[in-house]
Amino acid sequence: MLFPAEDSGSLNASLLDAQQFILADVEEGDVEENGAAPPLAEDWRPSSAALSLVTNSESLMCDFAAATYSPIVDDGPLRWQRKGHRFAGIELVRGSSPHRQVDADGVPVEIGSRWRRHRSGWLVTVHVRLLAKSTGDDREDISRMLFQVDLDARAAGGGRVFEYDVSRTVDVDAEARELRIRYRNQKVYAVGHGMAAGWDLDESGECTRVFLDAVPHFVVPAVEQTLEEDFELSGTAMKSLDLAFLESIDRDPLAVTTALGEFVQSFATWADEQSKVALALGDGAREIAARSQTAAVRMRAGVELLGHPARTELRVAFALAMAAMRLQMRQAALARGEVDPIPSWRPFQLGFLLVGLASSTDDAHPDREIVDLIWFPTGGGKTEAYLALAAIVIFLRRLLHGQHGAGTAVITRYTLRLLTSQQFQRAASLICAMELLRGSDDRARGMVRFSIGLWVGNEATPRDRAGAKHSLERLYKARHPREANEFQIMECPWCATDLVPEDKDDTRRAYGARLVGNDVVFQCVNPECEFSRRELPMAVVDEVLYDEPPTFLLATVDKFARLQFNERAGRLLGLNTPFKQPSLVIQDELHLLSGPLGTTVAVFDAVIQLLLSRSGPPPKIVASTATIRASTDQVRGLYGREVALYPPAGLDGDTTFFARPVRSGEGRLYIGLMPQSVSQATALIAASAPLLEIPRHLIGLADVDERLDPYWTLVMYHNSLRELGRTGALLLDDINGRLETRSERLGKELRKVRAASVLELTSRRGPEELPNDLRQLGVSADNSSEATDVVLSSNMLSVGIDVQRLALMLMVGQPKTTAEYIQATSRVGRGRVNGIVVTLFRSNRARDRSHFETFRSYHDALYRGVEPTSVTPWSLSSRARSLAGALVTLLRQTFPLLAADSSAVNFDLDDASLRPGLNVLVERFLDLVARADGAEHTDVTVQVWELLREWDHEARKARDDGSPLRYERRPGDERALLKRFGQPGPGWLVGDSMRSVEPNVAVDVQEPLREARRAADPA
Ligand SMILES: [Zn+2]
Repeated sequence: MLFPAEDSGSLNASLLDAQQFILADVEEGDVEENGAAPPLAEDWRPSSAALSLVTNSESLMCDFAAATYSPIVDDGPLRWQRKGHRFAGIELVRGSSPHRQVDADGVPVEIGSRWRRHRSGWLVTVHVRLLAKSTGDDREDISRMLFQVDLDARAAGGGRVFEYDVSRTVDVDAEARELRIRYRNQKVYAVGHGMAAGWDLDESGECTRVFLDAVPHFVVPAVEQTLEEDFELSGTAMKSLDLAFLESIDRDPLAVTTALGEFVQSFATWADEQSKVALALGDGAREIAARSQTAAVRMRAGVELLGHPARTELRVAFALAMAAMRLQMRQAALARGEVDPIPSWRPFQLGFLLVGLASSTDDAHPDREIVDLIWFPTGGGKTEAYLALAAIVIFLRRLLHGQHGAGTAVITRYTLRLLTSQQFQRAASLICAMELLRGSDDRARGMVRFSIGLWVGNEATPRDRAGAKHSLERLYKARHPREANEFQIMECPWCATDLVPEDKDDTRRAYGARLVGNDVVFQCVNPECEFSRRELPMAVVDEVLYDEPPTFLLATVDKFARLQFNERAGRLLGLNTPFKQPSLVIQDELHLLSGPLGTTVAVFDAVIQLLLSRSGPPPKIVASTATIRASTDQVRGLYGREVALYPPAGLDGDTTFFARPVRSGEGRLYIGLMPQSVSQATALIAASAPLLEIPRHLIGLADVDERLDPYWTLVMYHNSLRELGRTGALLLDDINGRLETRSERLGKELRKVRAASVLELTSRRGPEELPNDLRQLGVSADNSSEATDVVLSSNMLSVGIDVQRLALMLMVGQPKTTAEYIQATSRVGRGRVNGIVVTLFRSNRARDRSHFETFRSYHDALYRGVEPTSVTPWSLSSRARSLAGALVTLLRQTFPLLAADSSAVNFDLDDASLRPGLNVLVERFLDLVARADGAEHTDVTVQVWELLREWDHEARKARDDGSPLRYERRPGDERALLKRFGQPGPGWLVGDSMRSVEPNVAVDVQEPLREARRAADPA
């Protein structure tokens, strides 16, 4: 929409009751009436729009179209008549006639251009400007406005339109240069001003036309894994993807390693081709290609190790891991309804196994310190890939070290509770498969029991046996047990049967949790299931985990803060146990470890790394991520280690050996809306209503089936809880009101948003509510009337929520970072239908405007736009928060003399039995700091010794007084070394969880009545 230009101060109060709002989707001659609040801010009412392009021509040929509306004067309510206008072949010539004027039914319009020298051609800005002046009366002005403005431009006289690269020639770092090379074919030909810009290309890739686009849209092709048919894999190499074949490696090593060798060769051939292409593209390109060569070398090393005559145990471990994965994948496929599934690897997964194999299974391998980072745009089976690696490591420990190889072998860390319980089910089913093998496979018989443990936040799971018993009683008594389930375990990981009944059941057998001795154990309630006759190998109670460290530990990063307070927590790192320390650490969703959380985690990780390598070489670290930029810096900041990205990038955009954009070009549809001159509330109502109507509108269209479900649930994504609250307030009255009006006008069946079917998904949800929320989100509108209508979500959603049926999203404003945008929008369209994302931009925000104006180019190279993430663990502010707690953890978990809670008093820098060990430990710690951030090394050194002297002083004073000095303050204690947030008095302030540093504070607003009652009754 373009508005008549304002004379200064001409806005008047009559605006407020004008209440006119005209939709752009009205057909010619149609009549539209509607109500909406008018705008107030002058810059919301643009009188012009423009686009810029680069050309070598001296003249441009433009077509212009728009519509005007005039009032229908009769006795009825105020209505408007549309009239379309079209002006073709408007020629703008540099110098002689850069401006032209046309008349759209009495409304004067200028089509003009501005020419500036650019290299050997011209940078031209073409504009459309409404020359009509505002009357000062909003209603009058409507007939002077232009709607559905359409302007395009072509180079005339045989000239060309060139790539618009005015602002993109500077590379801020080497990675930016590589990105520029990789996305060199994603060219931009125009930039919009006030509107988005689009362009047409002919078959040779030449730009033929640029145009203004009021509602830009772009389909980002799905990136899919390359499959065996994409390669010219020989028959032998094909066999290497078959798990049953790989399982025979211990019986016939040559056959299997030959097949694996051919698989690697197909990758190496691709890498060689990349290197050849890179020669022509220059320096950055050669570096990209070199990383593929390195990956080929590492894969080959993996295969050689498997074939090495002396590595019998490795082959058996590999075979057992393939057997376990095959069982697990088969079981999952059966649960999905597949008949007689034959599990096989995707090339991407097998490639990862081979890249990481040597350094994960050989403690002394030179690549041990490399962090292998799996990068795959969402989904893609990366979890299975690293579970397989974990299985190999676990079996190998048992084969090489017997009893000593038991204990916690693998630690998988997540950043969110919700994600953890979802992932738990998957990893648990692998452990179930390993347990079954222990009973059925001679190679695994006699091994110590395998188990999996969930170590998550305090509120989420019971902390000790007494708490667990209490939780169990509560579960049995609950009218709706699923809402009272504090064990985070919803279903049997093996057969997916619900372990908790929907309604209270008096037979205890209906519950999958029961008390055996003092322990709560889990057993499947489905009599057909293997695990109805034996315990499920799972534990969720902290105390139990410390007593019997689980083979496979899933934890939130937060939970490692427990190491400060509880010396027994160190047992999960293999400290003070008869077991070998963990061999593999898997960090999921590494990109979330940025900003304040990443910074705090990094301080503790330095300590955890030292603790994990106390009795030998460090564990292998594998990480996964969905969006990454500057991963080298991030991994160095977090771990002081080098990183290798897998799969290594190719030279063409998102295409790698293992993944490429789908050939059909299908994918997620992104649409941009930037309403002018209306309030955000009005815009939101106007944008939401048609989206909610989609399911009913689709039914009956050709080529569309009768299912309601695909776009039933509208996810409304918000960048702040405040905005989310505003939407919530509009939903039931205003949006439903709009739906009613539209239903009458369009003659379609009414869809209403039901209050009970609105789900809020934010950090305000309690941990026991989240599994139920996920379950609710899985309900299909085709099977139930209880399907969710609307999800009001905060950025909580962008983190690892995988609900296949979600496909429709309204983004309320552009998120702060591209990484979040990608993460959030990739939550829709993960299942059978492609996702649709509509972003509602706010025209009064500069960032939103800029995103709207460059909508197409941004989406054309989405991953290029990801901002570098940063962690600054050793900065002054971070040290002030975390260094004391980290030091206490390091010393307490290392020296038995300092382990118990009461032993803080034993710290003595003059103690000859302590000091030499302490010096070595501190030196190793500082060495790690130097590797992560050399600039802070000196300051950290000074501060570490200051803290140690302070502790020494406090302990000495306590010893002199004959008083205790504990780490943790107890009720009534005068002093302790540490104090938590909110505790007054002296002591080092330490966080209870890593999340204590997050700036978001949940405020629980209580009903006045409840508050008053509390005041009267302090109990
Ligand atoms: Zn079961």
